[in-house]
Amino acid sequence: MSHVFPRHSRKTPPKVSHGDGPFLFDQSGKAYFDGSGGAAVSCLGHSDPAVIQAIKDQIDAVAFAHTGFFTSEPAETLSEALVKAAPGNLDRVYLVSGGSEAMESALKLARQYAIEKGEPARRHIIARRQSYHGNTLGALATGGNMWRREPFAPMLMDTHHIAPCYAYRGQQDGETEFDYGQRVANELETKIAELGAENVLAFVAEPVVGATSGAVPPVEGYFKRIREICDTHGVLLILDEVMCGMGRTGSLFAYEQEGITPDICAVAKGLGAGYQPIGAMLCTAEIFDTIRDGSGFFQHGHTYNGHPTAAAAALAVLNRLTTDGVAQNVAPMGAKLRTALKDRFGQHAHIGDIRGRGLFIGLEMVADRETKTPFDPALQLHAKVKAAAFDAGLICYPMGGTVDGKQGNHILLAPPFIMEDAHISLIVDALDAALTESLP
Ligand code: PMP
Repeated sequence: MSHVFPRHSRKTPPKVSHGDGPFLFDQSGKAYFDGSGGAAVSCLGHSDPAVIQAIKDQIDAVAFAHTGFFTSEPAETLSEALVKAAPGNLDRVYLVSGGSEAMESALKLARQYAIEKGEPARRHIIARRQSYHGNTLGALATGGNMWRREPFAPMLMDTHHIAPCYAYRGQQDGETEFDYGQRVANELETKIAELGAENVLAFVAEPVVGATSGAVPPVEGYFKRIREICDTHGVLLILDEVMCGMGRTGSLFAYEQEGITPDICAVAKGLGAGYQPIGAMLCTAEIFDTIRDGSGFFQHGHTYNGHPTAAAAALAVLNRLTTDGVAQNVAPMGAKLRTALKDRFGQHAHIGDIRGRGLFIGLEMVADRETKTPFDPALQLHAKVKAAAFDAGLICYPMGGTVDGKQGNHILLAPPFIMEDAHISLIVDALDAALTESLP
């Protein structure tokens, strides 16, 4: 009998045995192509020798030293490399153990900055519906995924949500994509006015929305307008790149493609590529200096901040992505995979939209292509597709998500950047089989 508390309490998944490149194997020897990198984590696959060696070397030297006493070579070098790689004026890196911790740290840093700047009234967080920022209470309160929030709603801090930038569902007839983006961005200004600009702390968004809506990219001009509104009202812009960052969308940071820089940016998942649990929050010198010259102490912290072994792994991952050029595979391979998916499913009666950037791709399942009506959530279609694809040897990440507050169905693909042309047909065929088996 298993004593592990599994994700789904009534099912015990197969035991993983080992990994090889983009494949995972269970104990019976069955191979699974990791078409979602778990949850957009394993960008280098499962057997990268350079990352594995870096971890071994670091453990041989010292596995862990608490940041209350020491900094470490890997934490220093990783932070420097991240700052160099991040366009714009992000200047300081706060290393944590994962995405939720990075987002919690971002929210608290924003609040402490406002206080130390002499603006203690700033406390309201504005985010977007159909977003996900983590499962700890602050991050969960910030996210706009109603299904995930519902049971915990009485325990969540007050936050405010505006419309997402989700052209497939939000763009109106006769409205250009650009105008649509401006219209939904302007909802931020309306919300700020409603709350009183002097009370608003930050706006939080995923540049390309992952777990809730299935790789939804913004339309052109949307984030430029958002940045403008934040600047006008002294509101911090916090971008959550936990899922879409670290090369996943074809640039190291997804915000690069929007021509803006956030004040704070969170990354995780691809940062450690699954070899170690690690996340990071990057912030501007203005934020860091204000606290350094004020109280001198960020009133926050986790035991595993700046974990040397995790930092060594992330540094090796970053070198593989940048110096070794692995991230350069993302844009061309993503384009090929999207083309193959469109060739096979572009006219499918129940695939309404195929979208994404780089190797971050979403397919939205609909009951009716014309009306875009979602399937009845009771069908639990996403769970059926996931199970059928898994049987067919493909790991993909279908989600219930939310469409206008109701559950919708999306399939997220986020394969390792090391995937090759030969894997494209494997993904498309397995997905085809899974859809045929699962759709009503
Ligand atoms: N933000 C986003 C955008 C995410 O996709 C996730 C994880 N799916 C998180 C935050 C939380 O990260 P973690 O699960 O590592 O705590």
